[in-house]
Amino acid sequence: MSKLKTFIRTKLTAVFLAVCIIALPIAAPIASVNAAQKPDAFMVFFIQTVLPLLMQIQTLCAAINGGTQSTLPRMGISAGHGGNTGAYANGVWEDVKTLEVALAVNKEFNARGYTTLMNRTDNAKCDKETKLALYKAWNPDILLEFHYNIGTGKSEGLEVWYDSGNANGKRLAELLADKLSAVVGLKNRGAKGDDNSPLGGFYVCGSFPLGVLVECAFLDNPNDVKKLDSTAAREKFVKATVDAVAEFSAGK
Ligand SMILES: [Zn+2]
Repeated sequence: MSKLKTFIRTKLTAVFLAVCIIALPIAAPIASVNAAQKPDAFMVFFIQTVLPLLMQIQTLCAAINGGTQSTLPRMGISAGHGGNTGAYANGVWEDVKTLEVALAVNKEFNARGYTTLMNRTDNAKCDKETKLALYKAWNPDILLEFHYNIGTGKSEGLEVWYDSGNANGKRLAELLADKLSAVVGLKNRGAKGDDNSPLGGFYVCGSFPLGVLVECAFLDNPNDVKKLDSTAAREKFVKATVDAVAEFSAGK
């Protein structure tokens, strides 16, 4: 039995890769035909069938390799909107700014050993339903979503939304609001509870045990936007984001 276990532990990854290499030339032409004929159906098939299957294989490998898997939370990093949607002010679309922040945050999480999944890595459109299906299939421990706010032109500051009644969400939101506003000199508008309305912007984050939404700054206030735009400020912001998650996880 122990010989079998040793064989599985040492050979499973190689066997899995070999199966993939053999299956790829067979699957690729079928997939490309499906994708060309029915792009939406193929995307649904990928999210609902292929992605969960890959996750099961990853979980199985981690379980067999017992003790080697990461204890860090698996992070969903979501850039709000996409494809020139969301707020628009002073010639800039919100989704362009949320992507800049999310990419930088994602890079910092990866550098510190976290497993992450982004909803998009370019300016493609990503509606709420697609995003929800993607993260439901992946099941992140923590989902972080980034947006920019819109106000009167003079409104200022950073705020972090959590699911009302979720004590963990409230604690993480408070940590993020305190740290992120402080490091870049934005006004701290605090942590705010949301009722998870399907019509609200918090719909996706509120669908998970722990999801919070960061409204980074006011897009229609150039002074606010500027506080996050320099390389130095962005670096402080992304480090503080990961620090807040690490502090939250250590205190659980
Ligand atoms: Zn938004």
